[in-house]
Amino acid sequence: KSAGIAVAFIPLVAVTREVRAGSNQAKRVELKYQDVPLDGKSCTSCLEFVPGKTEQDVGRCKVIPGDDEISPNGYCSLWNTM
Ligand code: SF4
Repeated sequence: KSAGIAVAFIPLVAVTREVRAGSNQAKRVELKYQDVPLDGKSCTSCLEFVPGKTEQDVGRCKVIPGDDEISPNGYCSLWNTM
């Protein structure tokens, strides 16, 4: 019985990890995301950025779904302050 229960939980764990953490590489490439600022522009000053717990922690970006490892010092082609 215990083997059957363990097998039953594997898909749930896999789905939970996908939703909770990680980076969205496909979207990062599409938007030319980089972990360093460009010409003084960074995620910290972008309206799409959702900060982490502190100013130095990684956060999220409203236009990169499923990614909670966006650097406050990052930058992408959709940088937006309007
Ligand atoms: Fe950073 Fe680009 Fe998201 Fe703005 S849109 S927070 S620059 S990844």
